[in-house]
Amino acid sequence: MDIQFRDGDLAFQAEVRQFIGENLPADLRDKVQHGLHLDKEDYVFWQRKLNERGWFAPHWPVELGGVEWRPTQHYIFQNELVEGYCPPVMPFGVRMVAPVIFTYGSAEQKQRFLPGILDSTAWWCQGYSEPGSGSDLASLQTKAVREGDHYIVNGTKTWTTLAQFSDWIFCLVRTSNQGKPQEGISFLLIDMKSPGIEVTPIITIDGSHEVNSVFFTDVRVPVENLIGEENDGWTYAKFLLLFERSNSLTGGLKQQLHRLRTIADQERANGAALSADPGFAAQLADYEVQLRTYEFLELRTLGNPNPGAEASYLKIIGTDLQQLASELTLRAVAHYGNPYIRDALVHGYNQPAVGPDYAAPAAPQYFNYRKTAIYAGSNEIQRNILSKAVLGM
Ligand SMILES: Cc1cc2nc3c(=O)[nH]c(=O)nc-3n(C[C@H](O)[C@H](O)[C@H](O)COP(=O)(O)OP(=O)(O)OC[C@H]3O[C@@H](n4cnc5c(N)ncnc54)[C@H](O)[C@@H]3O)c2cc1C
Repeated sequence: MDIQFRDGDLAFQAEVRQFIGENLPADLRDKVQHGLHLDKEDYVFWQRKLNERGWFAPHWPVELGGVEWRPTQHYIFQNELVEGYCPPVMPFGVRMVAPVIFTYGSAEQKQRFLPGILDSTAWWCQGYSEPGSGSDLASLQTKAVREGDHYIVNGTKTWTTLAQFSDWIFCLVRTSNQGKPQEGISFLLIDMKSPGIEVTPIITIDGSHEVNSVFFTDVRVPVENLIGEENDGWTYAKFLLLFERSNSLTGGLKQQLHRLRTIADQERANGAALSADPGFAAQLADYEVQLRTYEFLELRTLGNPNPGAEASYLKIIGTDLQQLASELTLRAVAHYGNPYIRDALVHGYNQPAVGPDYAAPAAPQYFNYRKTAIYAGSNEIQRNILSKAVLGM
């Protein structure tokens, strides 16, 4: 694959930079730069700006709103967004359910659901996991029983990210108990305003409310909301997971490294900057080498529309690095990282009198990042996938 930047690429890079400079408000940039919490309005605001420019869904087919870019342009675009401290795009609609809809959905489903994803009027969440069915996803028990023109759905989904804001949920449901567990699963799109749906918060170890339980009691779902064929949902579910796992992390990792370096330059160790301390400098260098490796692995998969086992590989390395950066940051701020200040991740938080400004978010970020090795299929499960796909074991 040719990934040399050409003149056209550099002109494109300048165009993206100019767009960001003209459209990203300073306070939003500030939140992203310091790793603070973003509100739904923040995401929606930025997604709409991208959509107005025609850049919100570049990987979609052109006739549906995508862009015909070379792999290098996709790479430049992602990189510039991150280096410009733009809010990340919320993936559940545009990167996850949309490819399932435009690949396996009917013409009516494309017409009905894709415009709302593009203009961010419809916010989606993912209903895969259940209490007792996470890694062993095929054992899921949420039941959908067909009655005339509707499915009647009963069961519980858990760890549902941002369900509290969602208009729609894409759900794996059991429609048959015949054959292997994978053979009785269907893929349903469910309106979160349907009677019988209840969302309750799960507060994670860092004190934040990102995930939820979603309870379904006799929820009526029109059969036209079924994707593809009944009992073929496992195929669509796996297709979606490839997109979820190959989400680019390079930019976010570079941001973490940049924050870490800034802190290490300001912290002191034995009378000099921490960044000059041989022990810490070696850890930083090691992190940077691993990040470079990750970046090149990601570049290698850029031109591959069907990343396969590489998606698992990238997920493991990328999330290990996310966690490592949060650990090094906590180590760098030393005892100033001890006070656990939950609200330190809220923009405008009045910093405490002890320690430098950058220290307060270190502990909440460290705890929040424990999730990365679990979601999108835990890293142990990714290793199992790799051992089967690559080693044939
Ligand atoms: C912050 C967060 C957000 C999430 N968001 C969503 C969401 O929006 N939608 C959604 O559907 N799900 C979501 N999840 C759920 C996530 O996909 C599951 O937590 C994950 O798949 C693990 O399932 P589990 O929690 O049931 O753990 P379990 O499957 O019970 O696993 C427990 C431990 O055992 C290990 N383990 C299990 N089986 C094996 C095996 N065969 N070999 C080796 N080790 C094994 C696991 O790696 C893990 O360490 C989210 C999770 C988190 C933490």
